[in-house]
Amino acid sequence: MLSQDDVFAELGIGPVWRLREAPSSPPLAAPGLPFTNWDTLAEAVAHCTACKLHATRTQGVLGVGDRNADWLIIGEAPGADEDEQGEPFVGQAGKLLDAMLAAINLQRGNNVYITNLLKSRPPGNRNPEPDEVSACRPYLLAQVELIQPKLILALGRFAAQSLLDTDEAVGRLRGRVHQFQNVPLVVTYHPAYLLRNLTDKARAWEDLCLARRTYASLPPES
Ligand code: URA
Repeated sequence: MLSQDDVFAELGIGPVWRLREAPSSPPLAAPGLPFTNWDTLAEAVAHCTACKLHATRTQGVLGVGDRNADWLIIGEAPGADEDEQGEPFVGQAGKLLDAMLAAINLQRGNNVYITNLLKSRPPGNRNPEPDEVSACRPYLLAQVELIQPKLILALGRFAAQSLLDTDEAVGRLRGRVHQFQNVPLVVTYHPAYLLRNLTDKARAWEDLCLARRTYASLPPES
């Protein structure tokens, strides 16, 4: 039988450059390593064992969308659907998020990148725990660094409080422009919360308008 090298030679496409064998236990358990590109970051998230969630998740959920987006949307953590499909916000809350984005003429994947504070699903959709948030933080910082967004929209209490390092309620954090890593950040309610609290949808609309106004007022790129 022909070896793979023989086949490549036969096709006239050898010699072939090969990636070195991956180490048997990937040295990726400790966030804090520099992630200089999307490949190393995606690999690190896929193999991450930095917190206990790795034991119960199906897969790490890095994010989805335009990696050069101006808009970075940050939710809380993957739920059951996201854990299964490997993409953030694909369940009911995701449908509402898509509608919220459409309301300000944005679309998933088009100048928009969507991710979560946590890349792994907390079992039973329980709240993220502080050690999980800090274990995942380097991944989010790397995403901000790689994307260089112009505006961040933080969805809900956990994203807002963790990014802004505060325990103020969403109701008090919304309505003004904050900064995260020198990027303007607007807080709004989490779509899953809005599904249960319809009356706050009007406030979420105001937040989206604030985000859109803030984005429109940014100086053009030099
Ligand atoms: N809720 C989130 O915060 N993120 C998801 O990806 C899905 C639901």
